Amino acid sequence: MDRLKSDFVANVSHELRTPMTSIKGYVEVMLMGASGPLNEQQMHFLEVVKNNAQRLNVLVNDLLDVSRIEAGRVSLIFQPLDLVEQAQEVVNDTLRRAREDNKLMTIRVDAGAGIPQIDGDLERVRQILGNLVSNAYNYTPEGGCVTVRIHPVDDSVQVDVEDTGIGIPLEEHDRIFERFSRGEDPLVLATAGTGLGLPIVKNLVEMHHGRIWLTSTGERGKGSVFSFTLPYHQPVD
Ligand code: ADP
Repeated sequence: MDRLKSDFVANVSHELRTPMTSIKGYVEVMLMGASGPLNEQQMHFLEVVKNNAQRLNVLVNDLLDVSRIEAGRVSLIFQPLDLVEQAQEVVNDTLRRAREDNKLMTIRVDAGAGIPQIDGDLERVRQILGNLVSNAYNYTPEGGCVTVRIHPVDDSVQVDVEDTGIGIPLEEHDRIFERFSRGEDPLVLATAGTGLGLPIVKNLVEMHHGRIWLTSTGERGKGSVFSFTLPYHQPVD
């Protein structure tokens, strides 16, 4: 059944991508003025089409990813990774995004020296960090702070992605890792999202034999902490 479902989603995603590429392409051409000059309203409408085509693209990619992961079709390629280095790169990308958005935020890595490497899949570890840092950035109003703390714990490295944002009410904690679950805060409603990020992240952490959990009281401004562990070594089977 899982295989059938995953084949179905893969086919649908592929079929959706082709028309979407054409929509995006033509909108961009029109925005460049290739079909004649545009007035302000026409520009605005085309920007709306472009943004929504972009959202659809993210949705289709996430859907494809979650269905492939859940059908056991994604295998990891392990290599020694420095989590501090990876976190720093994700933070740098997010700082660039903050500059583009004109959103004043403090975003930083807090890690001691000499944290051992872990066995991880480079692309997927980047996806885990990228998703959590992007959520922390999205769900923290301007002027806030995002900190990625990294420290060794027993046989693993623990990463805490901490923010000073809107927080998550206790009654939503279990639901938040389920597919399509999104909060109801105005900042969540104003942010483009699919509710697929956290289920993907949870699956990927568990495929690395790690754990993920969250700490938040849901009080606005007190923020949230998403923590996960990745073991130094993957079990040999
Ligand atoms: P998306 O961000 O696309 O909505 P996610 O699965 O990544 O999907 O997150 C699900 C929901 O969890 C979000 O819609 C939001 O309500 C909540 N959430 C996730 N991260 C945070 C955070 N750092 N602070 C507050 N709420 C969060």
